[in-house]
Amino acid sequence: ETVYLNGEYLALADAKISVMDRGFLFGDGVYEVIPAYAGKLFRLEDHLERLDNSLKSIRLQNPHSHEQWRTILSPLLKNGQDQSVYLQITRGVAPKRDHAFPQKVTPTVFAMVSGITPHSDPDNGVKAVSMEDSRWKLCDTKAITLLANVLLRQAAVEQGCAEAILFKDGYLTEGAASNVFAVIDGILVTAPKSPAILPGITRDVILEIARKNDIPSSEQAIAKADIQKASELWITSSTREIIPVVELDGEKIADGKPGLVWKMFYKLFQEYKQSLR
Ligand code: PLP
Repeated sequence: ETVYLNGEYLALADAKISVMDRGFLFGDGVYEVIPAYAGKLFRLEDHLERLDNSLKSIRLQNPHSHEQWRTILSPLLKNGQDQSVYLQITRGVAPKRDHAFPQKVTPTVFAMVSGITPHSDPDNGVKAVSMEDSRWKLCDTKAITLLANVLLRQAAVEQGCAEAILFKDGYLTEGAASNVFAVIDGILVTAPKSPAILPGITRDVILEIARKNDIPSSEQAIAKADIQKASELWITSSTREIIPVVELDGEKIADGKPGLVWKMFYKLFQEYKQSLR
């Protein structure tokens, strides 16, 4: 398996960085995950714009132009396959461990690809559990500092669930590694963009699909009590696309099967992917 590290393509086992890297010592870096369908990067410009925003948030310059990123990532993709690209930029290797930014360091740039397995089972969905959102106030930055997300997801997994659905001050934010949609009173709803959530690219695509197909949708504050009225609940992300949640906190959602709106969006999402090939 070939990965990219600081200008070189290497076997994964040969890709090594210093223990003084700011990513290792402080989680001082940002990342992106970009799906590629049939070997073609999906909504690359959107992902690179979000990367620019994340870098701006941590006051790090993008070491590459969007065109350079395309050139760097393309050789990692296997012809015709569905894969996801992980890329990460840290502030680099500093001479000593000091919280404040080091002077004149070169960012560490890493990228690798892995397989992708979207949910496509119309008969079964996943279970989720609600939790208090214990994260920080910069959730719109795709920072590699993911300890809260790791602990939340692990707690969900230990309860036999696929995702932790997070609430802050009684309102839905997102999942530990996903955005969340619900169908409430026939309207597809999701939390509005704010520093409390990551602006998911899959989230954008779903809202676009809703608008194009005249399916009522709304970005709005969603209280925990509203979720209890939901006829459908979904989690969305680049690597998992749209997954129906059929049980929350041990309670079935509607009849405990993926809903009709999910089935429709699953199909529309696949059609949209095909149209970009
Ligand atoms: N929210 C969080 C916290 C995430 O980690 C992710 C990505 O995995 C998402 C939302 C979904 O974003 P995207 O659809 O761009 O993958």
